[in-house]
Amino acid sequence: MTQETSPISEWLHRCIRCGNCKFIFRDYDKSCPSGHYHKFESYFASGRIWLARGIETEEITFDQSIVEAIFSCPTCASCEIQCQAPHRDHIVDIIEELRAKAVEAVGALPKHKGFLEKIRQHKNPYGETHHSRELAEKHSLPDEADTIYFIGCTSNYRTTSIRDATIQLLNISEIDYTIIDEVCCGSPLLRTGQRSEVPNLVTHNLQKFQEAGAKRVVTSCAGCYRTLKKDYQRYTNGLDIEILHISHLLPTLIERKKIPIKEEKSKLKITYHDPCHLGRHMNVYDAPRRLIDTIPVDLIEMHRNRENSWCCGAGGGCRAEFTDFSLETAKARIEEASKTGADTLVSSCPFCITQLNDANTSEMHIIDITQLLLKFLK
Ligand code: SF4
Ligand code: SF4
Repeated sequence: MTQETSPISEWLHRCIRCGNCKFIFRDYDKSCPSGHYHKFESYFASGRIWLARGIETEEITFDQSIVEAIFSCPTCASCEIQCQAPHRDHIVDIIEELRAKAVEAVGALPKHKGFLEKIRQHKNPYGETHHSRELAEKHSLPDEADTIYFIGCTSNYRTTSIRDATIQLLNISEIDYTIIDEVCCGSPLLRTGQRSEVPNLVTHNLQKFQEAGAKRVVTSCAGCYRTLKKDYQRYTNGLDIEILHISHLLPTLIERKKIPIKEEKSKLKITYHDPCHLGRHMNVYDAPRRLIDTIPVDLIEMHRNRENSWCCGAGGGCRAEFTDFSLETAKARIEEASKTGADTLVSSCPFCITQLNDANTSEMHIIDITQLLLKFLK
């Protein structure tokens, strides 16, 4: 199983160095967390593309400063929204390609290397004892089902309350679903330039989907969603199974009265953070808002919302390797959420929720959309 090659060279030469990727288009608010934190050209998309050209033409080689600039990016894809040039959809692809070349040339960064070692040994990047099917047994789930709930490592081994909320909602709805013996989807490796192990992970998960006879896979993790729906296509030449985020599935179940929701208006004031891997990477902005619409609560949007959202800073291996930058990015997001007057910041990704909670020094309550829904069950 090999990943198809991409025309990186062609994309590289489409950058006209206009600098639009640094700010929100037509608004001039900050849009690139890494560039605005480091205040240096190489830390913006435009600079990274310039570095990629230098590497391609062999004018530069991977030294420590170049490696740091390449990896200090949460791959939030805001640059892809703000850039108006023809290569805009591929800026993150260019950054990820550059990372893969860096790993090949000088090896992975230490914490990123740890992901690979732990995934090889434990099938998850946290190094926790591998489990999944135990949950199926605990909830008396079948071996085969139409729908698979793909939990993802962060929910399964860290923010287990999101996993448990999702299972509770699926159980109430009585849909035909199960949990397979899943392994890491491969996202931490793909985002950090370590591609060698990914085909094994893809093969394992696809085989388990097939053995369960599943027609669709639903996940509560934005990172797993992007990886299963987008990256797996590149490893399989097309995936014959529907991939959904939980926010696609739940509104329909609520509208069909499969999940009964209270009708009394709540005093909660919520704002919503778009996870980069769900929003900009996959264009899913409406589904979580449609889900929030099904419950009696006021949603107040942040100034930067939907495609212009400020990233939480956790992605692309930044949370592990560049923790200060990563947490500062999350703090800026929480400040922006506080300015709306909301008391609850809701998102739809366990990695965003973990990151935002770790950075939070305010009174803001930070929860996943599945946890929000539990508060409104009849
Ligand atoms: S990446 Fe796009 S927005 Fe940024 S400098 Fe190049 S062409 Fe301009
Ligand atoms: S992906 Fe995000 S952090 Fe990285 S260069 Fe683009 S806007 Fe900046």
